[in-house]
Parts: sequence; C-alpha cells; structure tokens
Amino acid sequence: MRLILLGAPGSGKGTQGEILSRELAIPVVSTGDILRREIAAGTPLGKRVQALVGKGDLVPDDMVLELMERRLAEPDLEPGFVLDGFPRSIPQAEGLDRWLAERNQSIDLVLKIHVSKKALLQRMTGRRVCANCGAVYNLATKPPAVEGKCDVCGGVLAQRVDDDEATVRRRLNVYEAATAPLIDYYDSRKVLAIVDGEAEVGEVAEGIRRAIESASGIRGAGE
Ligand code: AMP
Repeated sequence: MRLILLGAPGSGKGTQGEILSRELAIPVVSTGDILRREIAAGTPLGKRVQALVGKGDLVPDDMVLELMERRLAEPDLEPGFVLDGFPRSIPQAEGLDRWLAERNQSIDLVLKIHVSKKALLQRMTGRRVCANCGAVYNLATKPPAVEGKCDVCGGVLAQRVDDDEATVRRRLNVYEAATAPLIDYYDSRKVLAIVDGEAEVGEVAEGIRRAIESASGIRGAGE
C-alpha cells in the first residue's frame, strides 16, 4: 500500500502517519524529519537547507526529489510506505509519479486531512517536541504531566524553530500557494479522500481507516 498524507502544516500528518505505519506495518517517510536530521548533523545538504526550513520556505524541488528518490529506493519501502510532507508542490508530485511509473508502481490513496486555519495556528504555536525522543505535545490540548519535560523519556521539550507565530503564518501561506493545488491534482487522478482532521486523534485515525477500506473496496471491485 502506497499512501500520501496531504494537509497543511499542523494538520496531524505526523501523528496519523505513525498510527498508519503501525497498523499497516509499513514505514512512514517524513521529508521534514529527514531535513531536520540533516540540519542537526550539519551535513552539506543540511547547511544548504537550514535557512529555508527555519524561515518556513520550501526547499527547492530538485533537492527534495533527489533526496526522496534515494530514500524511496531503499528496500524497507518495497512493501509500501506512508509519505508525510511529500510531495509538497506539483513538480514534486509529477517527479514522484514519474519515478513510480518507471517501476510499474503508483499511489494507492492520498488522504487529505482537513483542519481550519484557526485551529492550525493554535496547534502549531502550542506544539512542543521532545528533543530526545521526538514525542509531540500541545500546550493547549495535550500538555506534558510536568511542564517542559517529556512524559515518555524525561527529555527536554522544545519548540520547533519554525513554530513561532510569524513563521507559522508564512508556512500556511506557502502551503496554500504551493501544496493546496495538489488536492485537484490527485482528485483528477481519482485517488483523493478527504478526512476531517479536527476531531480527536482516534476519530481522525478511524476516518482514515474507513477511507482506505472504501478505496480498497472500490479498486478491488473494479479489478
Ligand atoms: P514539516 O515537518 O513537514 O512541517 O517540514 C518542515 C520544513 O521542511 C518545511 O517548512 C520546509 O521548509 C521543509 N520541507 C519538508 N518537506 C518538504 C518538501 N516536500 N518540499 C520542500 N520543503 C520541504
């Protein structure tokens, strides 16, 4: 099963990606996580993208495509994958389609997680991430038991450099301009499902499960 999670920053792609990955036993691939790791390790690529990621701008398509084509070719993704944060523009989607077609593969389903702009702003500015294990919290909706400390491992909770309000607004504008057109792109290819992302995490996961089942049923019946 090859899935794409599409949605604005803060729509819950990361959380739902982890749930899907566990349930379907396929890896989740997050371009944001890959880029943040490159930045933290101070690699040449990390140094080139650091300023862009910090400001909330997109990394150029050719760099992301090169990075992702390398990742997608790794053997652990042969049974399938969940993509979180990629593609993020029409040229990236076209590049991905080309890469898959060359291997007689295609995307099974694109899950668009819908959350209003107001809720997105609240979620992202309140987001805190454990610097040690990556567990995600929200000061408004899912605070840690002890302020500033991770419930899972006791690590220090930090705000992502791109989660301050000005950068969050910028990221939402970037999403509208570059990424939202992918909704029509995948809708016209009949692989799009829209899921309400404002419900509680378990309910959103259930909506995603239903969308996958109904898409498998439709495709199965047509085969
Ligand atoms: P995320 O964790 O998905 O919100 O991504 C964090 C940042 O990484 C984004 O604001 C971009 O700067 C960069 N990024 C992640 N994925 C992509 C992508 N597919 N194309 C371009 N830039 C990306």
